[in-house]
Amino acid sequence: MDARVWDTDLAAGGRLMARLALFAGFSDEPRRLTRLFLSDAHRRAAHAFIGWCGETGLQAQIDAAGNVVARYEGRRAGAPALMLGSHIDTVRDAGSYDGNYGALAALAVVETLHAREERLDHAVEIVAFGDEEGVRFRTTLTGSRALAGNYPEEALDQKDAQGVLMRDALLAFGGDPERAALIRRSNVAAFVEAHIEQGPTLEAEGLPLGVVTAINGATRLEVVVDGVAGHAGATPMNLRRDALAAAAEIMLAIEERACREPDLVATVGRLEAWPGATNVIPGHVQFSIDLRAPSDANRAAALADVEARIFTIAAMRKVQASIAKSHDAGAYVCDPNIVAGLKHAVEAIGVAPRLLPSGAGHDTMAMGKLCPAGMLFVRCKDGLSHNPLESITVEDCAIGLKALTQFVRDFRAS
Ligand SMILES: [Zn+2]
Repeated sequence: MDARVWDTDLAAGGRLMARLALFAGFSDEPRRLTRLFLSDAHRRAAHAFIGWCGETGLQAQIDAAGNVVARYEGRRAGAPALMLGSHIDTVRDAGSYDGNYGALAALAVVETLHAREERLDHAVEIVAFGDEEGVRFRTTLTGSRALAGNYPEEALDQKDAQGVLMRDALLAFGGDPERAALIRRSNVAAFVEAHIEQGPTLEAEGLPLGVVTAINGATRLEVVVDGVAGHAGATPMNLRRDALAAAAEIMLAIEERACREPDLVATVGRLEAWPGATNVIPGHVQFSIDLRAPSDANRAAALADVEARIFTIAAMRKVQASIAKSHDAGAYVCDPNIVAGLKHAVEAIGVAPRLLPSGAGHDTMAMGKLCPAGMLFVRCKDGLSHNPLESITVEDCAIGLKALTQFVRDFRAS
């Protein structure tokens, strides 16, 4: 362990771990953690959070979009705020740390400041977003988008699987659907989200923390390959137009292209072949491609290469290929000053700083439209997330908290 973690830090890490364990009890399902946006468990978790804020003298409240928000005033009332937080909704059968770590670490930072009666030149605001995972309604990031003045009002008309309108669920939760689009924040100097990495890089490199440089942009494609179905016994190899063999060659070409470039990732996650019989040459294949990169220019270049390879391979094999784009979202490049500040904070506590992109989406993308934003990653076991086996150590929990606290103290609103 290269970081200097003192007993006092470990004790703070232990308290945060204990609270995370307690918080994981707020679930919509017995014996596993499922806390969907605006559900009963989400409401109970939000109120527990508000109660903990109250113990530190913070008046937390639920805002119109269903976020829990609280403000720790600076030396001077009305100072610009550094906002810290993450989401407290989860996927089904979730782990205890995704989102929750960043929300409760934000509160722990303020508790530390409060305990030492320490006021800063800036205010510190805490936010626990409610709608990051997008499991219950076909929406995502509505909480952070509301604060950024970019609320998708059409989301209110979405229904969950039981037919409950998001509008009604938000009202019952304590939000205000009529005002959700009107709560764009002003006077926010920056937003920082601490979050578990959800990937294996930090663990593989033996590092507890990472500073996020960018949140990957993503392109999704649907590819159709049409060859000719034929008799598996009667058609010689040189006379075949096998759509699945062509798709296989395309898949390897995609993998090879992604391997050539650091931080570019490409995945064929779904593939179907017709007619799907042992004794028939596949005549029709459909598969997905998911391509992500922290740089939009690199993603565009890779996309162009992949498309060219698909058509070249199809031509060589005398099959037809068609490509349709089903999703395209640009990368969010984290604010350079926030990245530098987090890097400095990580170094200041004795940890080698590792800059890395985030492959997963986060509320930080939405907050980045409002103010300078960035993220601090904490190592998680085996890179596992969206899984009940999600795990972090008390030491890493403490180191993350220490780095975040350091950042908050050093922060200067420009
Ligand atoms: Zn998350």
